[in-house]
Amino acid sequence: MASSKAGRYQPLNKAGTYQPFNQAGTYQPFNQAETCNKMASSSSRIEIFLYFGGELSSDGWSVTYDQTPIAAMRIPRSSSYDQFLSKIYKKIGVDSSRFSLNVSAKHSCQYLGRIKETLIPIKDDDTLSFFTDPTTGFSLMEIFVETVEIQHDDAPQIGREALIEAVKERSLRYARREYWVPESSKTKWKVLCRHTTEAMRCRWELRGIYKPKMGRWTITKYGGDHTCILNQMSLEHGNLDRVYVASLLLGHVKCNPSYGIKHVIQTVKDHTGYDIAYQKAWYSLKMAREMVYGTWESSVQKLPKYLGALQKYNPGTIVEWQHKARDTSTGAYVIGYVFWAFKPCIEGFQHCRNLISVDETHLYTKYKHKMLIAAAMDGNQQVLPLAFAVVDEESLLSWKWFLRQLSRHIIRGRRGICLISDRHAGITRAVRECPDFVPPNGVHRYCLRHVCSNFNSKYKNVVLKDLCWRAGSEYQIRKFNRTMEEIKKQSLEAFQWLDRIDKEKWTASHDGGWRCGILTTNMSECINGVLKGARRLPLTAIAEMTFQRSVHYFRERLARSTVMLTNNQLWTDFAYKMFTRWHQNSVEHTVTKFHQFQQSASVVTRRHGGHGVNTHVVKIANRECSCGKWTQFGLPCSHARKVCAAFMINAASMVKDYYDIMTYKNTYSKSFEPVHSEDYWDVPGFELVHDPTIRISSRPGRNQTIRIYNEMDWAQRRARQQAQQRNSSTQSDVPVPGSQD
Ligand SMILES: [Zn+2]
Ligand SMILES: [Zn+2]
Ligand SMILES: [Zn+2]
Repeated sequence: MASSKAGRYQPLNKAGTYQPFNQAGTYQPFNQAETCNKMASSSSRIEIFLYFGGELSSDGWSVTYDQTPIAAMRIPRSSSYDQFLSKIYKKIGVDSSRFSLNVSAKHSCQYLGRIKETLIPIKDDDTLSFFTDPTTGFSLMEIFVETVEIQHDDAPQIGREALIEAVKERSLRYARREYWVPESSKTKWKVLCRHTTEAMRCRWELRGIYKPKMGRWTITKYGGDHTCILNQMSLEHGNLDRVYVASLLLGHVKCNPSYGIKHVIQTVKDHTGYDIAYQKAWYSLKMAREMVYGTWESSVQKLPKYLGALQKYNPGTIVEWQHKARDTSTGAYVIGYVFWAFKPCIEGFQHCRNLISVDETHLYTKYKHKMLIAAAMDGNQQVLPLAFAVVDEESLLSWKWFLRQLSRHIIRGRRGICLISDRHAGITRAVRECPDFVPPNGVHRYCLRHVCSNFNSKYKNVVLKDLCWRAGSEYQIRKFNRTMEEIKKQSLEAFQWLDRIDKEKWTASHDGGWRCGILTTNMSECINGVLKGARRLPLTAIAEMTFQRSVHYFRERLARSTVMLTNNQLWTDFAYKMFTRWHQNSVEHTVTKFHQFQQSASVVTRRHGGHGVNTHVVKIANRECSCGKWTQFGLPCSHARKVCAAFMINAASMVKDYYDIMTYKNTYSKSFEPVHSEDYWDVPGFELVHDPTIRISSRPGRNQTIRIYNEMDWAQRRARQQAQQRNSSTQSDVPVPGSQD
């Protein structure tokens, strides 16, 4: 380095050429004749070697720098400190508003008979003039520069993660270069450009150091913008790791629990312009979910605390526990069953028809859990969730426990309840043992969709399945009989299978009006509404979701009821639509009055398609028509409307109360209170842990229950088994694309 400057500059000879040294061993600066970087010079300028971007080190005697100077320059000896600095800023290409400079100059002196090199910080005009003043005789300065990021008073305290995050963000989004980390510790983090080659060294680099006195990290070195050249735009980026991707997803995952892999890949592409592999997306999403919703294990621990908080902020919230066992070593309870219900829902049910449907759904958690849900039907024919429970499996015991809680907290002695459910062996037995659903108190009805599914999984015939649905959904016995005859013609065995089921339990025609026109549990609507995307989340997150979505239901539907009131509707949208449609249908009917006192009459209708006629008998006093629809729907059918007109009766007065607009409004008039921050939640009286025996096993074909599987379940089970086989063979729990819901 110095050879080209040999005429002006004699490199320091460490062999001790410079004599004499001070025997006393005291520190003594060189005099003018002896100093190496001091030569009598009358020049008005001073030579500067500028060192930047490298590493300074000192063994106590000599100062070394691991790189050659980035620049040699000359400045007037009369330069002020500010002029001096601005020259350096210009040379190293660093923004003076963001970085301050630590500048020091090498100075040699003699100590204990040896040459000792020291660094003198150049901080102001005085220290600068020590070197530049012509009378001191220096002709060369070796200047070492470090950049320090300027901390504004309001700047956040930068931490290690924030520093790494910022570098990653800039590298991905703006520089679009990869970096690597040669040094990483608790107090130091250093990165270099990965595109540096032998031939071309990129000057971009950055070093952050933790300053314990300041209690924060500072950037002690920054090399300036990349000088490397990218040959082509890469589609992937090596620094796009799971932690970074997960951090991008947090907001999305929190707002939308059904946020899936496809969304992850798109979000990363939108944000950074890079593609990521499915596997990386999957792990990042898992990490983001755990960051937002906790792990399975932490979440079950939090559940008692969360449900306690719900009760604290929403008095009247029902929470019931049935623990499975107690861990003798820790004293924690092993989760068995938990039931919860919100007060506004319980009170809202008072304004709904006498109908409760119950169903179960899988939770796609790491532990084998089922969720049991009870729901009512509001006056606008929409599902109102009433109660939730998490159980380990669907069994006689779990259903019995759930129905007992329903009876105690929701039904509370109300009579005439119709319970709609599937035909799971556990539930049918449990219902028989629950007095609320046994005549004369109440009845049990089967979900027609489940009956059809069971039927179809046995006979696997689409034509038969459609006939089964028709048989169950016909309102008139004669039509039911006709359909059953058709089934018998197709398959005697299928006919006998259906014939063995209690007709009043599965057909609308034999129901006697209990079902109020409801043929299925309508649970898909409920599950989609309350649990959409949540079934893959840990338990506390699921409970939170049921709370948030219930709040949402109440807010939306109360607002809807206000609109209906403003429209001067007497009834809900659903009832209004039916009432209007049946009026239009009644126009073509012809009435023959029979009995003035009983207000009975026969109505002749033109069949659609113009083939012949049908006759129906209407008895206004009994509020029934032989078509069966009035009894089921609680609204006078088209035939009844015609008869009402003939007897000059106001048909509107015969619409059931539960369709009334005020009843609907009252259903949703109670409000929820927000749950405060977790810091205010009470510590629950017990600790809860998962049951390790119901952890999902990777052995296929083990999760068998006494459930009557329908074809949907079979498909799910098959997919699960295949996935499990794949997993056990690859020793990885990464799912294959498409297996997410
Ligand atoms: Zn570079
Ligand atoms: Zn079901
Ligand atoms: Zn009718």
